[in-house]
Amino acid sequence: MSKSDSSLNEIKRSSKYERSSDDPHYSMERKRICPRCGSTKIIVDAERGELVCSECGLVISKGLFLEGKDWRAFSTEEFIERARSGAPVSPTRTAYGLDTKIAYSKGLSGRSMRMLRRTKKHVRSRKEKRVMPALFKIRAIAERLDLPTHTVEDAAKLYRLASSAGLVKGRSMDAMVAAVIYAACRRTEVPRFLQEIASFFELTEKEVGRSFRFLFRKLDVRIPPPKPEIYVSRIVSKLKLPQSIVTKSIRILRIAREVGVTLGREPAGTAAGAVYLATQEEGIHRTQRELAQAVSVTEVTVRNRYREFLEKVKPLLEKERLEKEKKEEEIAEPVSL
Ligand SMILES: [Zn+2]
Repeated sequence: MSKSDSSLNEIKRSSKYERSSDDPHYSMERKRICPRCGSTKIIVDAERGELVCSECGLVISKGLFLEGKDWRAFSTEEFIERARSGAPVSPTRTAYGLDTKIAYSKGLSGRSMRMLRRTKKHVRSRKEKRVMPALFKIRAIAERLDLPTHTVEDAAKLYRLASSAGLVKGRSMDAMVAAVIYAACRRTEVPRFLQEIASFFELTEKEVGRSFRFLFRKLDVRIPPPKPEIYVSRIVSKLKLPQSIVTKSIRILRIAREVGVTLGREPAGTAAGAVYLATQEEGIHRTQRELAQAVSVTEVTVRNRYREFLEKVKPLLEKERLEKEKKEEEIAEPVSL
């Protein structure tokens, strides 16, 4: 149990392969990769018969045991292949391919058309030149952070937006790039901590946080709160809890979301409450105080979330368990699958 602690460390994971290979909990799952966030921490929720990403909460496959779905569909190689064969026109490229064409207008002479075209090209290339170094940086860092293509593209899009709005001038490019990457992760539900991204730039969480708030106060861009799932593996590794707690906590969070208990709640506290309920269910003793400290929330928060879960989630957990038992009894009878 304790050996996996350091490898669960969220900071500076340099590659997908490295991330899972030294972690006994996940080594069996090495070939499976979350198609949304690229995480290799895919868990099997036996009770629900689901394959779930323990970092972003995505349900990758349902009805595993009854339908006999092919898990190998999510091999590393296939994932990378899919990520590479993305859309040919991408905002991370330093010139929008199709976008450069100018709409033909009947009212313009050939000369005016040529002039318009030249002017537009000129403006574009100057603008492009300005954002180019940042876009290169986004790409380079994104690769080291294992970010999926759509996240990288979102980061590039946000940087362009910020640049057009005149928000990057005279500010640290690194801090801005880190801020848009973090924002893109939130927007595309890729679980990365701000601290993790900041450390790649040798910046503090505070510095990047400041740029992040500056940018997104001014830009009209929606940034959803991080999902509570992101905090689960952090708590579990800090408190040296078994893998079964991850599975149970993720399931609790799923049910909680289904019944609307997570809405408007602070994600770290929600995660701590879910892990607390999971430890209770599994008969493992950890105090609410320990859980609160693991994610820097108050004990009161953990207690409140836990009470809510007891009331609204626990009955559903029980129901699922009973349903599963019933299903297993049915399967035990000789039925051809
Ligand atoms: Zn995921």
